[in-house]
Amino acid sequence: MKLILKNHTEWQTKDLRKLIIANLKESGLINQFKSRTVILSNQTKRRFNFQGSNAMLGMGWIQMCIPKQFFVKAVGIDGTLQSREVEFDSVGFSKVFQHELQHNQGLRHKDMLDWQKFDCSWANQFQVRKYQSQSFDKPIVSLKQKRLLAAESKVAKLEKLINAKQILLKKWQKKLTYYNRG
Ligand SMILES: [Zn+2]
Repeated sequence: MKLILKNHTEWQTKDLRKLIIANLKESGLINQFKSRTVILSNQTKRRFNFQGSNAMLGMGWIQMCIPKQFFVKAVGIDGTLQSREVEFDSVGFSKVFQHELQHNQGLRHKDMLDWQKFDCSWANQFQVRKYQSQSFDKPIVSLKQKRLLAAESKVAKLEKLINAKQILLKKWQKKLTYYNRG
């Protein structure tokens, strides 16, 4: 079986491929089709589950919608309900993937078990990591550039100060002229 995997997420393709292959083996359907296409896309809305995933009926095509982050709700020390970021939900992914595999077999919802009831605890051992995010928001600045920027900022500050003092000087000069007349 040839797996055509198109990954449009920030999660590592290598890890996702392992998890998908494990799912295909677990289902016993790995050789059902000569090739399978799995599209992995980002959740478009801020969701923390795999909602929006779908599959083609009777064909080897699955799309999985993957959240950018995973959270669990937990009660904090102060007693309030808080969200805590957790690792990729490999078990949740597998439950949905197994459901989609059933669609590929030609099954419709009325003929299927509730996907939440699938036992995919075996998937716990599969870790899916994110690509190291590269930070482009901080451009590399040379020492010379840094000093130039600092000098420009200093000049701007001093000019502003001189301007303010000049306004103040004019005000007092006016007062002086007034008192001199008197
Ligand atoms: Zn379905």
